[in-house]
Amino acid sequence: MASQRNVEPERIIEKEHVIQDGMDISGHWNRMFEQRVIWDFTPELLEKVGAVEGGESLEGCYQCAQCIPACPVNTVGDYGPRRIYRRVQTGMDLFESPDLWQCTTCMNCLRVCPKEVDMMKIMPAVRQEALLAGNVPPELQEVFENTLEYGNPMGESPKKRAAWAKKAADDVPLMKDKKTADLLWFVECYPSYHPRGVDASVALARVLKVLDIDYGILGQEEKCSCDSQRLAGESGLFEEMAEHNLKMFKRYKVRKVMVTDPHALNAFRKEYPALGGKFETIHYTTLLAPRMSELAMKNDLGIKVTFHDPCYLGRHNGEYEAPRDMLKAIPGVDLIEMGRCREQSYCCGGGGGGMWLDGFMSGHVSMRLSEERVTEAVETGADVLAVCCPYEVSRFEDAVKSTGNEGKLVVKDIIELVTESMGSAQ
Ligand code: SF4
Ligand code: SF4
Repeated sequence: MASQRNVEPERIIEKEHVIQDGMDISGHWNRMFEQRVIWDFTPELLEKVGAVEGGESLEGCYQCAQCIPACPVNTVGDYGPRRIYRRVQTGMDLFESPDLWQCTTCMNCLRVCPKEVDMMKIMPAVRQEALLAGNVPPELQEVFENTLEYGNPMGESPKKRAAWAKKAADDVPLMKDKKTADLLWFVECYPSYHPRGVDASVALARVLKVLDIDYGILGQEEKCSCDSQRLAGESGLFEEMAEHNLKMFKRYKVRKVMVTDPHALNAFRKEYPALGGKFETIHYTTLLAPRMSELAMKNDLGIKVTFHDPCYLGRHNGEYEAPRDMLKAIPGVDLIEMGRCREQSYCCGGGGGGMWLDGFMSGHVSMRLSEERVTEAVETGADVLAVCCPYEVSRFEDAVKSTGNEGKLVVKDIIELVTESMGSAQ
């Protein structure tokens, strides 16, 4: 039976702001008890989350509030693991609450949490239960249906998955023609279909050719790595896509995969092995950074560049240096760091299903996370915001427009800056 609360949730949230602003926590609690304001909790709702496989760690929260300032959603809204804990404790059914969909699984809270409350496990587990109960934002449901039917979240034709390669100056080899190669380039969905993703893919194909790297792509035989859909709660869909991709990897005896998408990197390194995948995965920046001196980059770009660490490349997979090494090797690039960078990097809002939830999130935040990040980038005085995750070019370009910063900042994938310095293809 649910207990009655005698303090409104809003009042509790107000107290959390006080704690976040530096008020002594023990003094706060003493005053609360002196005033005999005692909260009745609803432990059964917390137990309900803890009973879901993956949801257990939420019960370990001891409300220290370290996660609140670390959470990027809190910067523009009213969110964070501690708040989730408190709301569940005071009567919110997380399985039915919009709060369930706000987390981008950026991992910044886990970085600071002394109790290792792990939203990367809690969120997919609880979301899966919500999905089974039919409680899912419509835009996310559409993404799941597109992925199942077309193998990509946008609902693009699978037959056109390799159409981007026609824009490349050189042939982009298909594994079905080559049969084997040193490296499989897993192109992924946005670099295959989104116009700005295609720009980066064309640039990368050129660099791979110049470096004489023996690679192939799957083309129509590739399907979404599906990591973001998994984190949004669709583990069944993830397994179906993974099963298909692993079959292709086996067909071509793939031992090494290069990805442009850090979400694919995460899936291949951490999730595919449990499904039988035995191969090495490397991000394109890690592969290319040591070979930058082999590229004839003759144009001095003469630009100030700031770099956005993708959550799933940096915090999730520990790669901070390779993108920076690439940027520093480009003639005329002056790299300026944003205040929140490397381990403390701010999230673009695209992870964990957030890529498809901007409409939903508009009812919960004062500005998009991508807009907050673009504002920070503009403040550095940089001309270019450099990225190396295919979610980010489109997200940040939209944010540059919506924050009125057109003409002040352009967004480019690192590989685009490399080919700009190389000059036009011969
Ligand atoms: S940092 Fe961890 S223990 Fe502390 S309030 Fe947040 S979730 Fe709870
Ligand atoms: S994973 Fe990121 S978005 Fe989710 S609660 Fe933690 S800090 Fe906030």
